[in-house]
Amino acid sequence: LEAVRAVEPRIADAIAQELHDQRESLKLIASENYASPAVLLAMGNWLSDKYAEGTIGRRFYAGCQNIDTVESVAVEHAKALFGAPYAYVQPHSGIDANLVAYWAVLADRIEAPALAKVGKRNVNDMTDAEWAELRAAFGNQRMLGMSLDAGGHLTHGFRPNISGKMFDQRSYGVDPATGQIDYAALRETAREFKPLIIVGGYSAYPRKVNFRIMREIADEVGATFMVDMAHFAGLVAGKVFTGDFDPVPHAHIVTTTTHKSLRGPRGGAVLCQPELADQVDRGCPMVLGGPLGHVMAAKALAFAEARQPEFADYAQRIVDNSQALAEGLVKRGATVVSGGTDNHLVLIDVDKYGLTGRQAEQALLDSGIVTNRNAIPQDPNGAWYTSGIRVGTPALTTRGLGTAEMDQIAELMHTVLSQTKAGASKAKFDLDPALADRISKQATELLSAFPL
Ligand code: PLP
Repeated sequence: LEAVRAVEPRIADAIAQELHDQRESLKLIASENYASPAVLLAMGNWLSDKYAEGTIGRRFYAGCQNIDTVESVAVEHAKALFGAPYAYVQPHSGIDANLVAYWAVLADRIEAPALAKVGKRNVNDMTDAEWAELRAAFGNQRMLGMSLDAGGHLTHGFRPNISGKMFDQRSYGVDPATGQIDYAALRETAREFKPLIIVGGYSAYPRKVNFRIMREIADEVGATFMVDMAHFAGLVAGKVFTGDFDPVPHAHIVTTTTHKSLRGPRGGAVLCQPELADQVDRGCPMVLGGPLGHVMAAKALAFAEARQPEFADYAQRIVDNSQALAEGLVKRGATVVSGGTDNHLVLIDVDKYGLTGRQAEQALLDSGIVTNRNAIPQDPNGAWYTSGIRVGTPALTTRGLGTAEMDQIAELMHTVLSQTKAGASKAKFDLDPALADRISKQATELLSAFPL
């Protein structure tokens, strides 16, 4: 840190403060974790300085032999970890992984037939008229993804994201009575809408998803089935989600982040069936710049770590903890979406405490509990204020907390939420600062037995 401090002390201070904050507060953000020292260290070195556009053994720059090694090892571990026929580890983030996947599908389903129709191998050989027709066809495709309030992600075809500008999107949601995916309704929508792509996966859905049924629906309507397992990749890697609930054998293409439940560096990856491999390989330079060699090195380590037997135990403990947290909240009077959880996250309906998600998020933060507000199904407060709080257990499980501690955390959260009073606006609230301070100290005390 001294080398950093010598250049800009404010950056050194921010790094040190971040470590302090992550040590002292209850990190319950469902998409966060604590990467291992090996993973963190693999990102701070000279691999970062190397340009290596292209793919393994086929680069647009000279001298890429070490990046070739790093990328090959990462691919080998990713394939073995997930039992996938093909892996691409260059995406810099989850959004990038999804962009690679969407363009791979468009290249496979729209571009390749258009090239065949005009008898050409490469888009550069097309006439201007042929190219204009193809470009129009790209912008005229349909996607079916999970609605945002049911837990879908912006990259699944929503207007603020490029995916919503690329695709004509329609959503599937959850059954209001159960809070769980209504597969019959999904099938009906797919039959009527006839999407090119059906997207499975979520950011804020607390249940298992039956990917076998979703693939069946995709096959019935001729759609390519993609799953974005960014949130639950650690549960797939740790074999908590198997059979119908493991997306890899069912989907044509799977995307993930590497930094959430999977506990690696910030980044993304794509797994696919062999027929899509060539198109996925064109991710760089189609939508990605030069790959980040240092991050691919860290991904290789994270995949290797996840192949160890301890990781399966970790993945099971994530789910045990999230179920204990949900039970602890419910028995104290909280309402959680769908009544419980099968995965790493719990969605609390804070409307039942008379609060918006925004008020609850800040009241919890003032009390040393870091969460994020999140829309719930049919949310009356919209996507900004929301009526939900999303909590997840991957990070605290890494620190070693177990089900007994989750019950204590449920008590702390319920105390804060039930003592917070809504204020004059959807962002304002009243919470006794002495209570917030007391809860914050209890949170730090609880964590002191689980050092980072
Ligand atoms: N996909 C899903 C399901 C996510 O939840 C997220 C992030 O939260 C992403 C993609 C985007 O990941 P990133 O922030 O790495 O771009």
